Amino acid sequence: MPTAFSSIVDLAAADIHPLKGPFFEQAGVQMDVLRLDKIHSIISGNKWFKIKHDLELAIVEQKPGIISFGGAYSNHLVALAEACRVAGIRSAAIIRGEEPTARATTIEQLRSAGMELHFVSREQYQQKKQLKELFEKTYAGFHWVDEGGRGENGIKGAAEILELHQTNYYTHFCCAIGTGTMMTGLLRAAQPNQTVVGIPVLKLGDEMNELLGTIQQNANASYKIYPEFEEGGYAKKNDGLINFMNELYADHNIPTDFVYTAKLFKAILALIESRKIPKGSKLLLIHSGGLQGNRSLKAGTLSY
Ligand SMILES: *Cc1c(COP(=O)(O)O)cnc(C)c1O
Repeated sequence: MPTAFSSIVDLAAADIHPLKGPFFEQAGVQMDVLRLDKIHSIISGNKWFKIKHDLELAIVEQKPGIISFGGAYSNHLVALAEACRVAGIRSAAIIRGEEPTARATTIEQLRSAGMELHFVSREQYQQKKQLKELFEKTYAGFHWVDEGGRGENGIKGAAEILELHQTNYYTHFCCAIGTGTMMTGLLRAAQPNQTVVGIPVLKLGDEMNELLGTIQQNANASYKIYPEFEEGGYAKKNDGLINFMNELYADHNIPTDFVYTAKLFKAILALIESRKIPKGSKLLLIHSGGLQGNRSLKAGTLSY
């Protein structure tokens, strides 16, 4: 029996977790964390918001299934596969590169949710239009979702993140940037006197201009992007970052993932410390989930 759309995730679990301590008192900054990581153990965080309109559309229009794209460790595909399984819809994905050989990977999770997987070379993967044509027959009538849940439906869903609680009180919303879809949505939902602070978790080259273009078109509020906290690039890690994650958990009982949220927390604390985030600020930091990505770390790396 498919589960009703509204009960796929538990939005009430996304509570606000205030961080306390002398660090914040001295800086005169309030920092609250919106725990989107708690809405579901697999369909976590911002990915639910980014896929919800596509999922709803596929259900309402009775599409035979949903198909999307992603890498072998994609949080987006994990969320999509599980949401489709729960909703009783077929799902398929075109995956960049070869199938990883390690066990307990994201791929196993996708398979166990019943997602049909197709691995294509990195070159082929770039040719999205050709791929769509290639799979058109196999997946006739399927609803296609852009890579990583980017696009208008993703933005619209991400804007709803700020509807979970009263958020007028905050001066800043802070989020990680991958494709920038979440940040674009937050900027659409924020008030003109609020600022959205975005921390890219990858080196943004030419994509930065594209991202800024989309962001500017959607911006209802002001924004700041600090590109110096990517720790070497997408999914790159180092001992400093891992230590930070263990300390954050020990001090505040907040688990983070090394790809997105750990870099976000580390950056925001650095910006508070350097007073780039001024005294009197009231921050709402979006914990966008993604904890499943930590499975690629060696056992015992993290204390949680
Ligand atoms: C995908 C993801 C992001 C980035 O979201 P974008 O909309 O692609 O910028 C941030 N945090 C987590 C945990 C994610 O999985």
